[in-house]
Parts: sequence; structure tokens; C-alpha cells
Amino acid sequence: MAVSQENVQLFTQSDWRENVSKPTWCPGCGDFGVLSATRKALVELQIDPTDTLIISGIGCSSNFPHFIGGYGIHSLHGRAAANAVGAKLSNPDLTVIVAGGDGDGLGIGLGGLVHAARRNLDLTYVVMDNQIYGLTTGQASPTSLMGAKTKSTPFGNIELPINPIAMMLAANATFVARTFSGDGSHFADVMKQAIEHKGFAFVDALSPCVTFNKFNTYDYFRERVYKLEDVDHDPSDLMAAYKRAYEWDTEDKIPIGVFYKTEKPTYESMELAIKTHGNPVKRGAVRPSNIKEITAHLY
Ligand code: SF4
Repeated sequence: MAVSQENVQLFTQSDWRENVSKPTWCPGCGDFGVLSATRKALVELQIDPTDTLIISGIGCSSNFPHFIGGYGIHSLHGRAAANAVGAKLSNPDLTVIVAGGDGDGLGIGLGGLVHAARRNLDLTYVVMDNQIYGLTTGQASPTSLMGAKTKSTPFGNIELPINPIAMMLAANATFVARTFSGDGSHFADVMKQAIEHKGFAFVDALSPCVTFNKFNTYDYFRERVYKLEDVDHDPSDLMAAYKRAYEWDTEDKIPIGVFYKTEKPTYESMELAIKTHGNPVKRGAVRPSNIKEITAHLY
């Protein structure tokens, strides 16, 4: 579909309040930075909201689709990746972005995330990583640091955190990056690269929960982050990416930027039915009138 300037403007600040819901996040929540940087990236890439689908699971950050415009699915807890895979295979021409929290994507939704990554569907998956369960008022999440005192770990967390970057490298994601919601221009630039990447793009978004995580604050990150683009890092070097991925664990330094990027055929470009017959939605294989027929075996 041709880009309509009028539609692209729906992602901008001026029309935003009229077309989407007002964010319900706490003042200062890192998710505001994710929202504005994502909107900036979409506008700069001239992506039409009518060709865009934002999908989330459950959590504070998973309210994201309500606040940005375009089409959206606010799905079930941990099922954002599964919905994204289905949507992308039904209409490969859509720009599909998954946005959700660390509890949703790296806890209950971990399996879906890993398998979407290894299949290399052309999606962008942003984990708004605040290292805590915010919506349920402050329990330890899969990325909470060892020793973190939360409502569920009052004597300190005794679990080691997941390393999302190393995990996505091991899952064969073809684009792996991290950014920080306290740096809007860096965030928008990483998002633009992720959306433009042809294949599965994973973005670990450091997005502080100012209400329940009193340790991983904006200041905590500002003292530790450095940009990979400012040092001698080659994003085509997988082993170098692994080394950088462990710096937070071993050296208390937090690299942000593109850790790894490679080109591989996307799942949808190799899928036989799509290859043979084209986009299922555009050839009328999926339409409101035949949804019942297609899904009859489910009842
Ligand atoms: S509880 Fe935390 S994550 Fe949820 S909206 Fe408030 S600051 Fe953001």
C-alpha cells in the first residue's frame, strides 16, 4: 500500500491524543521513552499505520498498542510472539512489532520468543526490560539481578538472571541489539535499524520501573552504559557479540547498540504456500467471510 502522509501523521505527537488512548504508565516510567522513540522511528521510516501491527502480551508495557496507533493486538500473557508469527504468515506485507515486558517475553513467553527468533520471521521484538513485574506491583522477574530485594524476594533474589542478548544470539536471531529509554535518539536509531532489518530483530530495551525497581534506575544505567558504535565492535562477528553480551555480568559495564547482525532468508520467503500462491490475505485466502470455514476444525 502506498504511504499516505495523512496516515503517517497518525503516529506523530500532534495527532496522537486524538487517535489513541492516553498512556496509563506512572510518571517517569521508562516505557514513555520506548513509545516516543518507536513512534519517531516509524515516522522517519514513513511507515503507514494501516500497514503496521503492534502486538503485546500482558504487563504494564503490554498496554503499548493502545498508545501508539496503527493496528494492534493486546493478546494473552506470553502469547505475543505466537500472535505475531500467525499475523506475519497471514499477511507478510505488514510491519509487525511485538512490544512487551521481561516478565511476559522472557518468562511465560520465552518459548514463543526463541522459536520466532530461530525461524527468522521478519518481525521486530522489543522487550521493555525493567527487571521486575510492574503490573503485579513488584515481584522478581527473569531479569532481576541476583540479590535484588523485591516483594517476592524480601531477603534478596537467589536466582541468576537470564541474559537476553546471549540467549537471542544462541537462538540464531539475525539482529540483536540493546538500547536505553533514557537516550531517545539512540533508541529511535536502534528501532529504525531493527524495523528495517529483513528478518527477526530483537531489541532489549532498558526501561526503568520507577515505582517498584529502586536499584536499576536511570542513574544506575547512565553510570554503566556505553555505545558499541563508539568502540571497535564489529556487528558481523558473532563471537565478539557474545563477549560483549556478558560484560554486564562480568565487568559491570552495559553495552548498548547493535551486538550482532547477519542476513539469512526469512521464514515467510521460504514457506511453500506463500511462495507458490502469494500473500494469503491479498489473494483472499483469509477474509472475514471464510474465517469460520478455516477454523472449523477447532470447534
Ligand atoms: S509500575 Fe513500573 S513498569 Fe508499571 S507503569 Fe509504573 S513505573 Fe512503569
